[in-house]
Amino acid sequence: MNDLRVCLRLARELVTLAVFQFVFAASLSVLSGQTMPAGADPQVWAEALKIHRRAIIVDGHNDITGPMVDEDFDLATSSVGKYHRDGDPFHTDLARLKTSGVTGEFFSIYVGGNRLQTHDTLRRAMDLIDATYREVEKHPQQLMMCATASEIRRAKKLNKTCALMGIEGGYAIENSLHALRNFYRLGVRYMTLTHNVATAWADAHRDIKHNGLTDFGKEVVREMNRLGMLVDISHVSDKAMHDALDVSTAPIIASHSGARGVNNHTRNVPDDVLTRLPKNGGVIMVVMYPSFLDERTNREENERTAKLRPQIEALRERFKDDQLAFREAERKLLAENPIYIADYKRIVDHIDHIKKVAGIDHVGLGSDFDGVPFLPAGMNGMEDLALVTYEMHRRGYSEPEIRKVLGENFLRAFAQAEKVAGNRQISAKGSLKRLAQ
Ligand SMILES: [Zn+2]
Repeated sequence: MNDLRVCLRLARELVTLAVFQFVFAASLSVLSGQTMPAGADPQVWAEALKIHRRAIIVDGHNDITGPMVDEDFDLATSSVGKYHRDGDPFHTDLARLKTSGVTGEFFSIYVGGNRLQTHDTLRRAMDLIDATYREVEKHPQQLMMCATASEIRRAKKLNKTCALMGIEGGYAIENSLHALRNFYRLGVRYMTLTHNVATAWADAHRDIKHNGLTDFGKEVVREMNRLGMLVDISHVSDKAMHDALDVSTAPIIASHSGARGVNNHTRNVPDDVLTRLPKNGGVIMVVMYPSFLDERTNREENERTAKLRPQIEALRERFKDDQLAFREAERKLLAENPIYIADYKRIVDHIDHIKKVAGIDHVGLGSDFDGVPFLPAGMNGMEDLALVTYEMHRRGYSEPEIRKVLGENFLRAFAQAEKVAGNRQISAKGSLKRLAQ
């Protein structure tokens, strides 16, 4: 072999190596995506990212479905730096979903109590379900519909993201167990019994009419158990939480709530509910809205809202023919009146508390991405979810503990609900009874 050929071969190998290094570095940066928090130990951060990537991550609540219906938002469109029609920033799109590491994302089929006036609760749920299916049909390389715990595990192996669905607001079933069963058939796997106002059969945290669940409300819970649809106690009153625990033979979840022991807010779960979780097997999936996480943020946000109300009303009047201009002016006004916003570490304070009171087996994640006006300081969107893993790792959580919080606890509860349903399929009564109209 002459010198020239040796040189050529060496050059070729060097080029190959350079290309390999470039591709490797590029794939690493895509995988890591998130920015290391200021002051973090790079070693601890790198370890946390490895744990994060290995884990199956399930997020209990994402409201991107609203814009999918109302604004024709396609998940393939970059949402970074963009704002919803209501002025709040986007947190979700396909690229951000990829970076987040989430395998199981619950797309919220959110039906607000205000729709009781317009009599379109079931129709709204139908529209949101269709939009979820259509996103999966459009992007089959990255997304797949899932309805079982084992499908979520399979998606992790396939390196895909599961689209799961949960109804938020029991108004969607229009007091019909027939409708409830059809939602199950369409793939809905949890139902938040209420949103902020009571249903005809369950009390909400801000609207108490029935002293918890009515007899029909208990029937709804039993039917959900029979189907294998998880009962979600986020948004419901304390008594309704306890009634659901009394009736349910399957684990319950809170798809997006914090712990009242850390922030005394009615949207959070009190300790006397947490202490019942070991027996029930349920999971509190910790919300990432700073006003639910932190007392000071909540107070300052409420004070700011009250203080700026006249100015915001004036802006609304001034820009009544131009919603976009109104939202921009409103955003500017809010930016000029900043409040304290708790950072991502506060999420882990709630995880710590639930771990202490209920145990490590009963805590998970339920972000409420795209359902809240702002996220904890340090988080721009779902791409920053690894911050939660980092903070748990930094506080000394072991990898098995972290994996439980990120997804394994939910998967266990979900599989248990499937088992309860399997055992009860045969003993089910026909159509059960309907709420008296
Ligand atoms: Zn909610």
